[in-house]
Amino acid sequence: MAIPIRKPAEIDKLRKANIIVAKTLKYLSGQCKPGVSLLELDRMGEEYIRSLGARPSFKGLYGFPASVCTSVNEVIIHGVPTEYKLQEGDIIGLDIGTELDGWYGDAAVTVGVGTISKADEALIQIAKDTLYFAIEIIRPGLRFKELSYEIEKFIKARGYQPLHGFCGHGIGRKPHEEPEIPNYLEHGSPKSGPKIKEGMVFCLEPMICQKLGTPKILEDKWSVVSEDGLRGSHYEHTVAVIGGKAEILSKED
Ligand code: MG
Repeated sequence: MAIPIRKPAEIDKLRKANIIVAKTLKYLSGQCKPGVSLLELDRMGEEYIRSLGARPSFKGLYGFPASVCTSVNEVIIHGVPTEYKLQEGDIIGLDIGTELDGWYGDAAVTVGVGTISKADEALIQIAKDTLYFAIEIIRPGLRFKELSYEIEKFIKARGYQPLHGFCGHGIGRKPHEEPEIPNYLEHGSPKSGPKIKEGMVFCLEPMICQKLGTPKILEDKWSVVSEDGLRGSHYEHTVAVIGGKAEILSKED
């Protein structure tokens, strides 16, 4: 199946869904304080998304039980909200999806709770830096595999590892569409596979491990950690290729 090319009016719809994601992430980031539970964060996120007129698209997606992925410390992605109360020094990934008028938004951040260690600050920064590096190099004609390859090189040059088995993705009328965009060169040559074109819309989401990129899924069947047992980080934006470069849709207007 071909990767869809979106018309400007369709990109406007995607932008609207993604602005709600950005606003919700900003709001929720401010709520990540010691003593706040993951279930409270989930409820606050869901209410906030609905108050802005959208639907939390992760709720029920593949059976996910909540509106917000809350990934604490060793959990890198897909953390399920529980009664766990945040503690000083924790780091938490917040990943949110919205649906508005049949179009989808998706983005994520990792934030510290109170004062965090220098090592955790660096861990969060590499996820953010990788995301903005990837956004910066996007141009029509670049192959998705080249993008994955460059992302992997960037992460490894800083001494970290990309999480394997999970990836960025196309987005549009469904929350996950083609192509898959791993944060590493999965197979084949970077000079193979589809090229990025004007009008494509997709999510980039670096998922960072410290020593090993091998994923392990916890007993809750959702939470993804690294085999190394160390903390991880995650950042994500939805971008549209417009005017020869990537425009971030998941930012406040
Ligand atoms: Mg995503």
